[in-house]
Amino acid sequence: MCKKLIFLFAASLYSFIIYSQNDPKTTELWEPIPAKVTPGENGSPPSDAIVLFNGIDLSNFESMRGEEPKWKVENGIVTVVPNTGGLRTKQKFGDCQLHVEWRTPEKDLDKGQNKGNSGIFFMEKYEVQVLGSFENKTYPNGQAASIYKQCIPLVNASKKPGDWQSYDIIFTAPKFGKNGSLISQARITVLHNGILVQNNVSLLGPTEYIGMPSYKEHGNNESLILQNHGDLVSFRNIWVSELSKLVLLNFNLLILFRWK
Ligand code: MG
Repeated sequence: MCKKLIFLFAASLYSFIIYSQNDPKTTELWEPIPAKVTPGENGSPPSDAIVLFNGIDLSNFESMRGEEPKWKVENGIVTVVPNTGGLRTKQKFGDCQLHVEWRTPEKDLDKGQNKGNSGIFFMEKYEVQVLGSFENKTYPNGQAASIYKQCIPLVNASKKPGDWQSYDIIFTAPKFGKNGSLISQARITVLHNGILVQNNVSLLGPTEYIGMPSYKEHGNNESLILQNHGDLVSFRNIWVSELSKLVLLNFNLLILFRWK
C-alpha cells in the first residue's frame, strides 16, 4: 500500500514537472510592470529625463571655479568661453543615460588635440572626449568618442566641423567595497551620431592626461562636467536619465525568476 502511494506521488510529481515544462505560462513574469515613459521626438528628452540645458539658462550648472557659469548662452545653445572654467552640474549622478549635442567651430585652423577639444566627464573623472575628428590626425585613444587615453572608438563617426553631432551615452558607475576596494569597474557605452562606438567598455580608472589610471574610492553620485579646453565648442539639448530604478527592476526580475 505504502509503495503504491509513493509510486502515485512520484508519478503525479513527474507529470506535474513535465506539464510545467511544457506550459509556456510557467516562464511568464507579470510583475513588476515597467513604468511608462513617453519618448521624445528627434532627440528631445523622454518624459522621465532631467533636462540639464534647455537652451535658456545655465541654472543647473556651476563653474568649476566656484562662480556663476560664464559660458555664452545664445539662440538656444551654450558655447565655451575660454579661461572661465568648466561647467559642473549641481545635481550629482551615478548610473545614467546622457544625451548631448555638440558642435566644433566651422573655421578652425588648429590641429590635433587643439581642434574643438572639450569633453563630457562622468562623476568628474571619466571623460568621453569631444574633438573635431572629421579630418584631424591625433592619437586614436584621444579622438572624438574615445574614452580619453583608454578606449579607441570602434569607428570614426564624426561629422565635419560646424555640423551638430550627438552623443548618447550609458554610464555605469564603479562600485567600491566597505574598505574602499574596487568591486566593479566603471563601464561606458557610446553612440556617436547614432552609431555604436563604445560597447560597454570597462575603464581602468579615471581618464588621466599623464600616467596610468587607477581607481580611488569616491561617492556613489558625482557631478557631470563639460570641459573647458579653451576651444569654442557649443552644446545644446542636454538631458540625463537616472538608471538606478531600472537596475532595481532587473534585480527584482532575477529574484522572481529564481523563486518560480
Ligand atoms: Mg577633452
